[in-house]
Amino acid sequence: MITITREQVQGILSKEISPAAVCAGGDIVVFETRDCYDDGIVSEDRPMGDKTDPIENPATGPLYVQGAEPGDILKVEILDIRLKAAGVMQTVPGAGVFGGDFAACSARIFPIEGDRAVFDAHLKLLLDPMIGVIGTAPAGEGVTTDTPDRHGGNMDCRKIVKGSVLYLPVFVKGALLSIGDLHGLMGDGEVLICGLEMAGEVTVRVQVLKGVCLPTPFLYSRGSVMTIQSADTLDEAGDLAAKAMKAFVMQAAGRSDEEAGMLLSLMGQMAVCQVVDPKKTIRMELPLSVLEAWGYRLP
Ligand code: CA
Ligand code: CA
Repeated sequence: MITITREQVQGILSKEISPAAVCAGGDIVVFETRDCYDDGIVSEDRPMGDKTDPIENPATGPLYVQGAEPGDILKVEILDIRLKAAGVMQTVPGAGVFGGDFAACSARIFPIEGDRAVFDAHLKLLLDPMIGVIGTAPAGEGVTTDTPDRHGGNMDCRKIVKGSVLYLPVFVKGALLSIGDLHGLMGDGEVLICGLEMAGEVTVRVQVLKGVCLPTPFLYSRGSVMTIQSADTLDEAGDLAAKAMKAFVMQAAGRSDEEAGMLLSLMGQMAVCQVVDPKKTIRMELPLSVLEAWGYRLP
């Protein structure tokens, strides 16, 4: 098994970055990840963290997948997500939905007991581990790991969990997959600008799909398929996600434009992934069973 260590991180997804590891299609790979504060916040008394020049949202990688060529799709099965011991949250004046309410930076470190985060003596929250940053290298300029886009990146989609399958576009030879920014728990919107930020390890199986048409980034999770689209505004991201799913339903199930639209209005769930990153992210979900009624099977 290939492991990419927590030392091999960067703050940008770019074709210019040399691979941290090379694998073949079908291989299982472990990505050890730092938290989004570069593992720098270790005391609530020092909410800015202890590192002089931390990498924001460090992503581990990139992984070069042999045989991946531009135009292919990289199928990433999330086999496991294991979290380290504690979760961190930070409030930052000027950042996130509530940034105007905070006078100073603060941080909390939440202990984990079993499968729960201890918020305080009254409240323990059930964890639902997810991946915040996961993406391939973009075709052109690199994209920093705070930003989501067509390559994936900082999508902060809380449906990217153990057991889900993410389909990412391949823009450059080898795909160059990177993963980071694990959250032990996060609500849709990520309104504060962080989830329960945790270091950890992600185990994936990667496969290269050729001649397959999917509106990437495309996710199968917990019985539903979903398009995930990011744009400057939520309105734009919502339009992109819904239209990508409609085109997919027409192609996958052989439905007309009108029928696909009706199906999405009946059974589609549009949801906000996050509203706090440089681009906003919306997902459009549809139960896979709807498509299976017409014989569709996921690649
Ligand atoms: Ca994030
Ligand atoms: Ca995060």
